[in-house]
Amino acid sequence: MKIKYSIGVSKIRFSYPGASRIKIKGNTECDFLDIKEINVTSALIKPTSSETSEVTGPGIDYALDPYVGCQHACKYCYSFRKQFLDKPETSHAQDLWGDFVDLKVNIAEVLTTEINHTKRGGVLLSALTDPYQPLEHKYRITRSCLQVLLKRQYRVIILTKSDLVNRDLDLLTQFKNADVGLTITTDDDNIRQIIEPYSSSIEDRITTLRTFHSRKVTTYVHIGPILPMNPEALVNQITDQIDYAIIDKMNYITPELEELYQRNGFGYALDDEYFKAKEGELRKRFERNNIKIW
Ligand code: SF4
Repeated sequence: MKIKYSIGVSKIRFSYPGASRIKIKGNTECDFLDIKEINVTSALIKPTSSETSEVTGPGIDYALDPYVGCQHACKYCYSFRKQFLDKPETSHAQDLWGDFVDLKVNIAEVLTTEINHTKRGGVLLSALTDPYQPLEHKYRITRSCLQVLLKRQYRVIILTKSDLVNRDLDLLTQFKNADVGLTITTDDDNIRQIIEPYSSSIEDRITTLRTFHSRKVTTYVHIGPILPMNPEALVNQITDQIDYAIIDKMNYITPELEELYQRNGFGYALDDEYFKAKEGELRKRFERNNIKIW
């Protein structure tokens, strides 16, 4: 079933607080989010598969993506290139990232069968999309997958930019092994609003880490890509809320991203030298606080 929300104005409101958004397509206002229900035949993907992005982190054996497409529409999203831009024959190659979401409505069912004949291992949710993008509030596909994995006590590794993951605290605290990670790419929420405008604020992400950490769930921060930042301010805010950190540079610089950086006065932050300097500072400060880095 294909549902197209034609709303006649440029703002789409979801019930999830903070998820309202304005979509711009090129220079033209875009008035729809294209949502499609799809059926899949497999759920778990080996991270080495060409279908996944390069996944790093401890104990990841599989990746599971409940959605195709991501409403967060971060300006640097490497996932879009990996899935579509390098493969012009694929269905969404001509679409704008953030304009479409395919809902894998049967993935929990497929997963239920699949784990009967799959070696138990760590499952990353997610490698190519955010498992807690706003539509998850309504469709609960990620939650359904977690329920399946919990029954068999698979290890899960969550990676998100959304505080919607708090909704699943009840499930995630029941896993013997669960890591909950929040991507936090800068300490400056003004920068975050320019580059990751549709995901949770930095403050809400840090509060989320604090909540899980206080409930004895292993937590980590994924600082990737490094955006313009003050490493000292960022490390000071998160170091007590995490067990480990993952750091990555910008993997995908488009002319549009470069223009956005220049227009906002931080073009310097796309240089390799900038990444190296900030990564060095982050590493030094985390190590001082005995935080392991991957
Ligand atoms: S949250 Fe992740 S998958 Fe979604 S747009 Fe941002 S970088 Fe891409």
